[in-house]
Amino acid sequence: MFTGFVWHERYMWHDTGSLAGILPPGEGVQPDRTFEHPDTKRRMRNLIEVSGLLEVLTPIAPRLASEEELLRFHTPEYVARIRKLSEERGGDAGEATPFGPGSYDIARLAAGGVIEALDAVVDGRVQNAYALVRPPGHHAESDRGRGFCIFGNVALAVMHARAVRDIERVAIVDWDVHHGNGTQAAFYDDPEVLTISIHQDRNYPLETGSLDERGTGAGDGYNLNVPLPPGSGHGAYVATIERVVEPALRAFQPELIVVPSGFDASSTDPLGRMLCSSETYREMTRCLMQIASEVCRGRLLLSHEGGYSNMSVPPCGLAVLEQLSGHRTGVQDSGALLVQVMGGYALEPHQEAVIERAAALVPVAG
Ligand code: ZN
Repeated sequence: MFTGFVWHERYMWHDTGSLAGILPPGEGVQPDRTFEHPDTKRRMRNLIEVSGLLEVLTPIAPRLASEEELLRFHTPEYVARIRKLSEERGGDAGEATPFGPGSYDIARLAAGGVIEALDAVVDGRVQNAYALVRPPGHHAESDRGRGFCIFGNVALAVMHARAVRDIERVAIVDWDVHHGNGTQAAFYDDPEVLTISIHQDRNYPLETGSLDERGTGAGDGYNLNVPLPPGSGHGAYVATIERVVEPALRAFQPELIVVPSGFDASSTDPLGRMLCSSETYREMTRCLMQIASEVCRGRLLLSHEGGYSNMSVPPCGLAVLEQLSGHRTGVQDSGALLVQVMGGYALEPHQEAVIERAAALVPVAG
């Protein structure tokens, strides 16, 4: 079976301006490059090509998400505002989401890329897929962009699946280091979409992502957060997948699993304080593929979110795509060797305590 891969050079033309990382330039702050810049993603795509892996992947061409598709999640006022700013000189979509001219269409191409990848998985044209899109999407809310995210790419793709693809039950497993607040909000009262987010405790956004956010109304019990302590690494992430995510997915029995995939839990990321390596992402992918093969005929879709380290994102992305496609390139990640010997890489008791609290919230399959 095949692994689909979404990419378009136009994603790299999304201009996030001259923040000094995340700080607006001004008095006392020299203009610099925004953390969310094209290089990490372009370098990931380059490594996939140079390693030879690109040749075994099935290209999936993105398309623009239609306005009707955007309106399944976003308000008309918000979509109109982004379009207008994009036609002018750009602006900020809400909170820490700068963009330049033309980004309305680039953000639509990101959402449409994830939708196309989802269709390819649902149609069985590919077994699984990775959408390397930009801008990311999991922080975007219905009426404002947040945290570099303009439109909710994964939320929109899942809404598309349920609106026109006859898919009812979808599980979302977000392993970006930040809380998937936008995706959580999109399905908070919905018992047919299980949202799980594994993230660094109170990193971003500060006000969401706690263990007590379980969903509301009919959706009560269908949202699960695992706020890991800063400094958590491979052991904590793999234990979370095994002890929380796997039983939750077995109990829920989704027809499709979607992963908002950020590589900002890697040890060198400037916006995370975690200790994952490319082997962590490889192992999490292996576990999710195993579950997907048991509960939903292997249907698994990953959509790129954060990841801001030129050193870490390419090997993490390569490891995930090697695992998805079952094809090892032989390229070694020497950076993984550096983090594997650090304290915190293996599971520690204070991390395990959080994982056990989350595991206690998971219903037992029956
Ligand atoms: Zn992130």
